[in-house]
Amino acid sequence: MPKVPEPGGLNLGPSGRHALGQVRLMTYVVTEVCIKCKYMDCVEVCPVDCFYEGENMLVIHPDECIDCGVCEPECPVDAIKPDTEPSLDRWLDINRQYSDSWPNITTKKPAPPDADAFVNEPGKFDKYFSANPGEGD
Ligand code: SF4
Ligand code: SF4
Repeated sequence: MPKVPEPGGLNLGPSGRHALGQVRLMTYVVTEVCIKCKYMDCVEVCPVDCFYEGENMLVIHPDECIDCGVCEPECPVDAIKPDTEPSLDRWLDINRQYSDSWPNITTKKPAPPDADAFVNEPGKFDKYFSANPGEGD
């Protein structure tokens, strides 16, 4: 009979939540800072290829992300966060919604030529978010 792991024996990911068998309980998300920056350093390190490309940002598919945390330090503008951080419910919804319709992206492409000009700009979602898909691979 299979042994049921004790809570202390669960496989804790970097976010601090656990994944047991095929049950998905957490994810990393791409946040507002990515909008119009889209440097794409993140896409090639993901072991499960779960980034999806919009016209001016990327998102992570919450059901495909395995919570490995590898992509988080690769982003030069700190746009990737574990969904356990406060106030990220909205971004979890955005990542989920658009990863279902935008194309998969696994290969790094050049960032927009004006990306550096938008790194520290506040309110980028209201000003610039586009629901249009990117090109993907
Ligand atoms: S590295 Fe950061 S800014 Fe670039 S696409 Fe990935 S999340 Fe967006
Ligand atoms: S945390 Fe790991 S699996 Fe999730 S998007 Fe980042 S690299 Fe991919």
